[in-house]
Amino acid sequence: MATMSALKDVLSSFMLLELWKGMALTGRHFLAKNITIQFPEEKTPLSPRFRGLHALRRYENGEERCIACKLCEAVCPAMAITIESDLRADGTRRTTRYDIDLAKCIFCGFCEESCPVDSIVETHHFEYHGEKRGDLYFTKDMLLAVGDRYEAEIAERRKADAKYR
Ligand code: SF4
Ligand code: SF4
Repeated sequence: MATMSALKDVLSSFMLLELWKGMALTGRHFLAKNITIQFPEEKTPLSPRFRGLHALRRYENGEERCIACKLCEAVCPAMAITIESDLRADGTRRTTRYDIDLAKCIFCGFCEESCPVDSIVETHHFEYHGEKRGDLYFTKDMLLAVGDRYEAEIAERRKADAKYR
């Protein structure tokens, strides 16, 4: 058996079989449609379930949706969320600190799924980056700013997603 296998290897090397296999593969793709795109001018389609940059949302009257229940913090497997909260003068509870360390985040979407008031969501935006330590540490103000900027788009997507929930 070992002799047969050795003989096959020698024959395969002698006839340059691997090389011809490689050439055949190259040939098959040579005339195929080009799938390279010119990013960022051109974009590939995103799955409706894509999970990108986080955002904190507000209601139409400008009030923060988040009620500081801390479910997202508890469920986050990467322990990327840090929340501190306090009671307001009107007796409602709101966060005084809501940070997400995106360097820790694994974009699992658990925070979004756990939120009872649709406050923390993941947008379809992925074109952000950090150049130094801490650049990917998003504070409450930064997350609210993302929410304010993309609210129309987020609301539209939540409406479309509702039929799957
Ligand atoms: S997406 Fe997952 S890992 Fe990232 S903050 Fe939310 S729960 Fe944590
Ligand atoms: S974002 Fe949602 S789940 Fe997280 S603390 Fe606020 S209300 Fe609770």
